[in-house]
Amino acid sequence: MRPGLAELPPLYAKRRAVFPKAVDGLYRRIKWGWMGVTLAIYYGTPWLRWDRGPYAPDQAVLVDLAHRRFYMAGIEIWPHEFYFVAGLLIMAGIGLFIVTSAVGRAWCGYSCPQTVWTDLFQHVDRLIDGDRNAQLRLQNAPWTAEKSAKRGLKWAVYLVVSFWTGGAWILYFADAPTLVRAFWSGEAAPVAYATVGILTATTFVLGGVLREQVCIYMCPWPRIQTAMLDENSLTVTYKDWRGEPRGSVKQHGGARIGDCIDCHQCVAVCPTGIDIREGAQVGCITCALCIDACDAVMAQIGRAPRLIDYVTLQGAEAEQAGAPRQQPLRAILRPRVLVYFGVWCAIGAGLLFALGTRRHIDISADRDRNPPYMQLSDGALRNAYTVKLRNMESRPRALEIGLLGVDGAVMWSDDMPRSQAARALRRTVAADQAAPLRIYVTAPAGTPAQDFSFTVRALDAEGGSDSHQTRFDAPGDER
Ligand code: SF4
Ligand code: SF4
Repeated sequence: MRPGLAELPPLYAKRRAVFPKAVDGLYRRIKWGWMGVTLAIYYGTPWLRWDRGPYAPDQAVLVDLAHRRFYMAGIEIWPHEFYFVAGLLIMAGIGLFIVTSAVGRAWCGYSCPQTVWTDLFQHVDRLIDGDRNAQLRLQNAPWTAEKSAKRGLKWAVYLVVSFWTGGAWILYFADAPTLVRAFWSGEAAPVAYATVGILTATTFVLGGVLREQVCIYMCPWPRIQTAMLDENSLTVTYKDWRGEPRGSVKQHGGARIGDCIDCHQCVAVCPTGIDIREGAQVGCITCALCIDACDAVMAQIGRAPRLIDYVTLQGAEAEQAGAPRQQPLRAILRPRVLVYFGVWCAIGAGLLFALGTRRHIDISADRDRNPPYMQLSDGALRNAYTVKLRNMESRPRALEIGLLGVDGAVMWSDDMPRSQAARALRRTVAADQAAPLRIYVTAPAGTPAQDFSFTVRALDAEGGSDSHQTRFDAPGDER
């Protein structure tokens, strides 16, 4: 018989708030240290300076949208060099593959912004409300003056942290000290205020309210990662053959049963509120805090540590069969990880090579197509081009533009009389600028259509050159 609606399990389960207990141990200390490093990088990077001379900004990392440049220390990326940014993004993606293959979801547990800010907010909770039990008591208590004051203070601190986070983001897009002054004096661009407002709200909601629900329900990364894990990937694992049957020694009349005394400390410290003893699950961000908690319990009851452990499936099975405990480093240094690492290094080396050998001057040309040519009164043919000269150095440079091909042709530009037309023109391009130039190329009557190149060479001691192939159109052969 089909069940009635009332007998079906609910499709939606209300969230059970998570109040993770404070814990100390190896992984918690690593997490504290790494959290400090990641937050310092995020908040501090816009304040680092890098001297690029008088013609370029001195902010070490800057996405200069107004001038379409990306600066990172001594590297300056122009819009036509976006492939460097694409290469860095590919390296970041492969880096995630390496981390996942080597140490499971350690990215989620230690470096993901959602985890880092949630951890920060949970620490604020402990500072204001107390540890897990005090938080639980306060949660269930009626609204009193004390509860209202604590909630108000906590949300105010959340708001300050969120505002700081949104504020730090916009500093990557303009000179940080200048933008801070403009922001507080009300002179910053409206988009700056809007961006800070949106990021303040998202940080508050994602880190302060939604927390582990983002990892469990919203983020696609855990689902992708499951496809990358195999029996040789390190994950946080409960060794059930050692722990089961679980139960307190008292309950079993002092008889020795499994090592798990069912104290629930591993669940109490878990930032996503799951029970790792139920096996691998999408809610586990591999932060390893349950290892710290369980090791402390094992030490108290005089049993061997690592009932919960960072271990591969294969390593766990071998240990169950009597082999010694697997050393995590052996699981990290395996062929798949080394192959990913090799690809990552090859892309990095390719980018470095391209950076080291890239030109610092550049020329490009767009020819007019309507009309493709003009016939002058003396029968000569004239083609028009919009030429762009780029000086990617932070100092002005004298450049010479030349013609390669089209015998007998000369050129001139809008800023000079035609009588001075020649095979080469000289221009000085300002530091870190692209100079557009309207150029007319005139060839004697009867010159056939043909390909030719504009060339550019630097006239200073550093030198350098570039060329751009284009076409000279003539009657009867327009393309
Ligand atoms: S902390 Fe260790 S002993 Fe306690 S319930 Fe968890 S696995 Fe069992
Ligand atoms: S089960 Fe353990 S490793 Fe997984 S999220 Fe919870 S505390 Fe972290």
